[in-house]
Amino acid sequence: MRIAVIGGGISGIASAFYLTRHNVSVDLFESDEQLGGRAGSEKMLDRWVDFGGKNIGRQYKRFREFAKSCGNPDFEYFGINTSQLINGRIVSLNRDGAKFYNLLKLIKLCGIPGVVKLYPHIKAILDDRTQGVLCSDYFSKLSERLDHVTLAEYLNKPCVNNIIRPITIRMNGAEPEECYPGNFGSNLALAVDSYEQLITGMYELVNTFISSVTEPGKLRVLKGHRVTAIRKDQNTIRLEYRHQDLTETNSYDRVISALPAHNLASLLEEQTPVAARLLRKIRYYPVGIAIVKYRNEVFPKERRAMIFDRNTALSNAGAYGLNDLDIVRYTFSGKTARKDISENSAPEKVIGFGEKITAPYFNIIDNPREAFVYRYFSKGLCAYASKHHLLLESIDEHISKHLPGLTATGDYRRGASIEACFRAASECVDNVIGDQP
Ligand SMILES: Cc1cc2nc3c(=O)[nH]c(=O)nc-3n(C[C@H](O)[C@H](O)[C@H](O)COP(=O)(O)OP(=O)(O)OC[C@H]3O[C@@H](n4cnc5c(N)ncnc54)[C@H](O)[C@@H]3O)c2cc1C
Repeated sequence: MRIAVIGGGISGIASAFYLTRHNVSVDLFESDEQLGGRAGSEKMLDRWVDFGGKNIGRQYKRFREFAKSCGNPDFEYFGINTSQLINGRIVSLNRDGAKFYNLLKLIKLCGIPGVVKLYPHIKAILDDRTQGVLCSDYFSKLSERLDHVTLAEYLNKPCVNNIIRPITIRMNGAEPEECYPGNFGSNLALAVDSYEQLITGMYELVNTFISSVTEPGKLRVLKGHRVTAIRKDQNTIRLEYRHQDLTETNSYDRVISALPAHNLASLLEEQTPVAARLLRKIRYYPVGIAIVKYRNEVFPKERRAMIFDRNTALSNAGAYGLNDLDIVRYTFSGKTARKDISENSAPEKVIGFGEKITAPYFNIIDNPREAFVYRYFSKGLCAYASKHHLLLESIDEHISKHLPGLTATGDYRRGASIEACFRAASECVDNVIGDQP
C-alpha cells in the first residue's frame, strides 16, 4: 500500500513513525526545506534551539516511546520555578520541593469557587490520564453541557485571571474568553504534568528518526514539496505538488493530512467546500517567539521565568534551560500581543519590547545581546472550537464522502501538545491500516 503524508511537522513525523511499523511505503511531503513545522529548530551560534515542542511532559508516553526508538536521547529536568506578575505584585507560584505551600497558594489565587469547579475535572484526568485530551469521552460530555459559555464566563474572575489565562495564553495563544470549557481538559492535563527538555533538541531527534528508516522504499522524505491539490482518482487519491517551480502528480492508496486545519481547508476548497468551511471554524491564534542569548546570566537559578498579565504583549519570559540562565525565551501571545506585534514587526523591535518589560525583574540592562533567533507564527496555537467533537465528526463525514481514502490528523484532533499530536497520529494510522481490505 502506498501512503502519502502531507506535512512534515510533529503530526506528520508521528504519522510516518507509526506507518513505518507496517508493511506500507510512505511519502512524506513537506513544503519547507526542513522538517519540524512549528516544533522546528534553528541554529543560534553553535547550537540548535527549539521553538515549539521544547517542554516534554513526564506523561508524554507516546512521544517518549518515539524518542526511545530513536536512540533514547537524554532529557534534562526543567522544573517549574516561575513567578507571576499579579496586579503589579510578583507572586512566586511554583517552588521545587514545596508542594503543600504551592497548593495553598494556588487555592488562594483561584478562589474557593474556582477550586470547586475545577477539582472534578482535574480528578477525572488524574484518575484516567487518557481523558486529558481534546474530544475525550469526559470532556466531550462536558462540552455538550457547557460550551454555550466561554471559560471566562464559566469560572470566577480571580481563577480566570490568575490561573486560567496563563494556561490558555501559553497553550492556545488565546484569552479565556476565546476558549471553551469542553476543550480545557487537554490544557489541564498539561498543567498537572511536570516538564523536561531534550538536551540535544528536536532537530537531532527528527533527523535520527529519518535516518533510522533504512529499508529501501519504506519512507521517502520529500522536503521542499508543497501539495497543491488533492483529487479523487477512481480507487486512489491523486496529489498534485510543486517542487522547484515544477508541478508533478502522484497517486496513492491512502493519504493522511497532517496539516493545521486551515491549511487542509485550502486544499479541500474545490472537492469538498463544506468540509473546508467547517475546518475554518477551528481557531488559531498568533504567537511570536524570540530566543536571545545574553553575555551574562539573566535569571537567578531559583526564579527562572515570569508570567505577565494581560496589560502587556509579552506573555512570559523564561530561561531556555536549567543551565541556560543567559538565554531568554520571550513569548508574545494574547490580545495585547495581537495589537502590538504582527508578521511585519522587526525582530529587534519585538525583542526590545520584551526586554523593556522584563528588565525591572531580571538582569537585562547592561547585559549585551550576543545572538538571537525569532519566529512569528500567524496561526501558531490552536484554540479549537465550541463543541469541538461534533465539529470534527461533521468534517470527517464530509471528507470521507467526497474524498474517501483521505484521513486527517493534526493539532486540532486531540490537542496542541506534542504528545496529543502523537496520540492523534497513532489513532489516525490505526484507522488507515485497519481500513485495508
Ligand atoms: C511557540 C510554540 C511553543 C510550543 N511549545 C510546546 C511545548 O513546549 N510542548 C508541547 O508539547 N507543545 C508545544 N507546542 C505545540 C506543538 O509544537 C504543536 O502543536 C505541534 O508542533 C504542531 O505540529 P503539527 O505537525 O500538527 O503542525 P505544524 O508544525 O504546523 O506542521 C505542519 C507542516 O506542514 C507543512 N505544510 C503546510 N502546508 C503544506 C502543503 N500544502 N504541502 C506540504 N507541507 C505543508 C508546514 O510547513 C509544516 O511543516 C508549541 C507550539 C508553538 C507554536
